[in-house]
Parts: sequence; structure tokens; C-alpha cells
Amino acid sequence: MTEGDTRNSQRMGPDSLGCGPHIPALSESSRPLRQQIFERVRAAGSIPRVQVAKELAISPATVTTLTSELIEMGLVEEIQAARDGESGRGRPAVALGVRAAAHLVAGIKLADRESTAVIVDFAGNLIADLAMPRQSQVMELPVLVDTIDDLLSRICAKAEIARDALSAVGLGVPGFVDAADGVAHWSPILVARHVPLARAVEARLGLPVRVDNDANLVTLAELWFGAGRRLSDFAVVTIEHGVGMGFVLNHRIYRGARGLGMELGHTKVQLDGALCRCGQRGCLEAYVADYALAREATTALNWTSRETQSINMLLESLYDHAKAGNAAARSIFHRAGRFLALGLANVVNLFDPELIILSGERMRYDYLYANETLAEIQALALNTGRPVPKIEIHAWGDLLWAHGAAALALSAVTEGLLAPGREIAAQ
Ligand SMILES: [Zn+2]
Repeated sequence: MTEGDTRNSQRMGPDSLGCGPHIPALSESSRPLRQQIFERVRAAGSIPRVQVAKELAISPATVTTLTSELIEMGLVEEIQAARDGESGRGRPAVALGVRAAAHLVAGIKLADRESTAVIVDFAGNLIADLAMPRQSQVMELPVLVDTIDDLLSRICAKAEIARDALSAVGLGVPGFVDAADGVAHWSPILVARHVPLARAVEARLGLPVRVDNDANLVTLAELWFGAGRRLSDFAVVTIEHGVGMGFVLNHRIYRGARGLGMELGHTKVQLDGALCRCGQRGCLEAYVADYALAREATTALNWTSRETQSINMLLESLYDHAKAGNAAARSIFHRAGRFLALGLANVVNLFDPELIILSGERMRYDYLYANETLAEIQALALNTGRPVPKIEIHAWGDLLWAHGAAALALSAVTEGLLAPGREIAAQ
């Protein structure tokens, strides 16, 4: 064996030819040019061809060719744009915009206490919305499918459209959801585990369905419609019945290699700590989520079962006690706030995001994000001499989640039309 052979045999892995990562031709970062043009037009709302060429660093001729394909497909249209600094002289400038009527999609979110739905057009304009209270109960799959079917009928009636006018449906449920294959591995609203949710709902509705968990939906809503539209890297942490996180890396939602990453609520903050509803101990969620606060409240304040019939009422009461100066009630919120700070400091140390958005109903309980909590994050994040990332509180209400579900459906339609190999399959 020569010296060269020895060196070769020491190469890592079975690939002996070449070096550098094997990036598939159609990876997230290299979408077809036509799709990139479409996405640029959609993000801008209205943009001249020459500006598209400049921003994508491609020739105006290429933009002209590809946009005429998009216009022919009925996805993009020419709109008259006012010229800056000129008052009606010469030909009016022509810009490109998404043809809003090209497609309609629905977004549906099922939560513990409420179901919400929206219908938006292809340009993201809201056509109709709906919020319905629901009994907090664990369901069998057929009951869940019935519920979705019923919600879709109601929202279509409200929008005055037939169901087959929709091109796709985005669906959000709480729990561990693999968005790529549409399977809900565990959800607090479903009895069974490993449920092929997307397939079951598609079979009933006769429409393409995309599924994701609720934290990712809020993140998509911020990315498509909210504070994250111009940010490349940011986190959304949701504090509701559980604690969730969505993360955007380089303008795309990050789900992990197997689709189940970013479960901040189940990162451990205490060895052998409090019992979590996932069955393990010491999860962040077991110290911060509403059931954690409720557990502490019933013990510390010695409340009886009559007073604890509804977790919502219990938390409201705990909040009132804290505001009135009750030391035990205050210490419960204070402790939850410290655990939240620990979780957020870990996010900062791992990802260094530009912004962390705290979202959810619980954000009304300002003890959770009091100044002490923010100071605690600063103390637990790496001491680099720089301030920790900006933290914003967004309490948008439940339609936000449904908007995220609509964004999921819109991207499914876009990819189906413009990214070969990623067509959405109607069952
Ligand atoms: Zn857990």
C-alpha cells in the first residue's frame, strides 16, 4: 500500500469522490427561478419587472420570459403603478402583482377550547373568518374529521363559495406533528398516536391538506403576515396549554431532519423534575404551561375541587390574587417566569436569533414576562457584553393560528404549481 492509498483510506464516510456537501438541485435554497420570481412578486405586493431583475441579479430578458409564463398560468398579472416624481406624463409604469383570484385556500386550527378558520385568496387577502368554541376533549380520528368537515362547510358558507373553489387546506393541531408526511404522532386532542391526519382529512374533504403543529403555524403567520417578514432568523415561543416554539432559519421555517424538532416545551430544565403531560419529567412545559400554574395554585392556595372546575377560571383567580398582593400567588407566577427565562436563555445561547416573539393567551399574565424575567434571561445568556435579542409580546388572538394554517396551504399550492417534484397530491 502506498502512502497515497493510506491517506485515501482515511477519508471519512463511504463517499470517496469529491468533497463539500451534496446539495440537491432543488433544495430549499435553490428553488426554480420562476418560483423565486413569483415569491418576490408576492412579497412585494406590486413590483416592476426591472426591480425583480435587480433583486434576483438576473437579466431583464429572463424576467420577461418567466413572468409571461406566470401570467399565462394565471398566477401573476400586470397592474398599473404610479410613477414616483412624475405627474401623469408619459406611459404609466407597469408593475407585477399576484392575481388574487387565482386560488383560494382555507386555514383551520383546532385548539383545546376553540376552533378557528379563515379563507384567504392567492394574494393573502382575508375573505372570511370564523371562531367557534369547542369542548375540550380528546377525540377519536373520525370525530376530529367530522369537526373539520363541519368547520369547512361553515367557513365556505360564510365566504359564499363552494368547497371545490378551494385549492388546498392547511390544518393545525397541537402536539407532535410531522409536517412532511402529515402524521400527528401525539396530540392532546387525539386519542390515538401516529395518526395519518393529512391523509384522513384529504380523503374526507377531497382537497389537498397540509398539517402542522400550532407553534409552527404561529411562526408561519409571523413570517407571512407579521413581524417576521423581513427577518432571516427569529423564534416564536407560544405559551398556552403547552409551551411550543417555531424557528425561522434563513427565512424558512426549520422543522428538524425528521420534522419533530424545536420542542422547546420538552427540553429539560430539571433532572427528575415535575411530571410533564408527555410522560417525562423536568420539561420546561411542566413549570410554565397553564396546567403547571394550576397544579401549584391548587396546592399553595388550598383551593378545593369546586373552585378548580375550569382551568381558565382557576388561572384568572390566581392572577387576581397575585395582582391583589397575595404572596403565594405572586411566587407561583414569579417561579414560572424564572423557568421561562431559563428556556429563553437556552434559545438565545443555541440560536442567537434576531428576535424572540412570545405569543399566546397566557401573555396577558404580565408576571410571566416582568422585568425580572427579562433580567434573568440576560443573566443566563452568554455574557458577551451585547444585549440579548429583542423580545416582543404578541397577543394576537386565535385567528393568527388560522392565518398560519392558510400560509401553509398557500405554500403548498405555490410549490405544487411551480416546484417540480413537490406537487400536492389530492387523494
Ligand atoms: Zn414533556
